Amino acid sequence: MDLNFDRQHIWHPYTSTLNPLTCYPVKSAKGVYLELETGEQLIDGMSSWWSAIHGYNHPHLNQAAHQQIDKMSHVMFGGLTHDPAINLCKKLLNLAPDNLEHVFLADSGSVAVEVSLKMAMQYWHAKGESRPKFLTLRDGYHGDTFAAMSVTDPDNSMHSLYKGFLPEHIFADSPKTGFWQEWNPKDIADFEAKLTAHNKEIAAVILEPIVQGAGGMRIYHPEFLKQVRRLCNEFGVLLILDEIATGFGRTGKLFACEHSDIQPDILCIGKAITGGYMTLSAALTTKNVADTVCGGEAGCFMHGPTFMGNPLACAVATASMELIEQGDWKKQTRKIESIFAETLPALKESDLVEDVRWLGAIGVVETNTPVNMDKIQSLFVSQGVWIRPFGKLIYMMPPYISTEEEVKKLVEAVRNALAEPECFSATHL
Ligand SMILES: *Cc1c(COP(=O)(O)O)cnc(C)c1O
Repeated sequence: MDLNFDRQHIWHPYTSTLNPLTCYPVKSAKGVYLELETGEQLIDGMSSWWSAIHGYNHPHLNQAAHQQIDKMSHVMFGGLTHDPAINLCKKLLNLAPDNLEHVFLADSGSVAVEVSLKMAMQYWHAKGESRPKFLTLRDGYHGDTFAAMSVTDPDNSMHSLYKGFLPEHIFADSPKTGFWQEWNPKDIADFEAKLTAHNKEIAAVILEPIVQGAGGMRIYHPEFLKQVRRLCNEFGVLLILDEIATGFGRTGKLFACEHSDIQPDILCIGKAITGGYMTLSAALTTKNVADTVCGGEAGCFMHGPTFMGNPLACAVATASMELIEQGDWKKQTRKIESIFAETLPALKESDLVEDVRWLGAIGVVETNTPVNMDKIQSLFVSQGVWIRPFGKLIYMMPPYISTEEEVKKLVEAVRNALAEPECFSATHL
């Protein structure tokens, strides 16, 4: 592999071109294993950023891709439709909270978030109200495009860089009570105060239910989300749930909002929808929101990506949803959760560890010193695992099909890293 070319010309996510960190060359992937060009087999602890939930090179997903590509890879979605989109949307509506009746297919998670924000704006516009603000939480993450970034944590996403261009929204304190702790009613106070003060300018609340992912891997109490739903109802503000990371079983429920027994007005999904095969996302909404949007001045929802409803992606996503429908994810994520519950607390014995937490197939070790990315990455690879931390967060979200042995090997590799001071000696991202 021409790694020199890669180093010199190809930008990787959140990586400097001046001093790029090592990138490991992957030749193929199968099940939970990534095979490097150098021959090592790594147990994947990341599911390629939450997406490869069924493992790589899955026969059922491969078959769906092969069958579809021989018919057509893509046709425009304006004025045309096809079985892959229809089959997928039927399944999505079947699986999603039952108040949701309309599906807008989009290209990536960030675009689904853009779409959801635009829907909320158009909804209020159609009702003759100007509501230019969104209320969200600190420590959140909703994507890297501008509107998505504007509701992502201002410090983590460096809003200061885009000052004057980025719209300024309202941030409430993130919940402090952890999922497994006793609910502290004070947790909702700041959110309630901000909603009370600004509700007439707020189009919608947008947040990640139960797990705040890339903004800090925080796992919070279901009562917070219940209270959010109650307050949104009370003030007549829409609630957008970003389940792009949490959707499709990751937290042990099909959707994380089920932990709180609530339903959103708009739901964003992505990442695991195609089982990690290609990019696809969706924003689902209620009949009321859809009809109101389309009853407004524009007469339709003002969005239509070129690759909307891509048949190849929809066919693979349908196959991914078929695997979800079979239901093995329930006992698989329960098993992974019990392994984390059993093995993570002992890691607190290390002086480097600030906190450990877990839920479903998510395990998090928060350290008090940022990792040295190059060193820790190379240690993980030498241990035969793929875990990619950021800042002070070492987290695992393995494919659901991972065996007990494989999950334990991930945790063991983290334990070994904690014993290597050089893995925590510098402050690389
Ligand atoms: C990853 C993520 C996004 C953005 O999705 P992309 O496909 O990377 O654009 C948005 N929201 C949440 C919660 C995510 O985890």
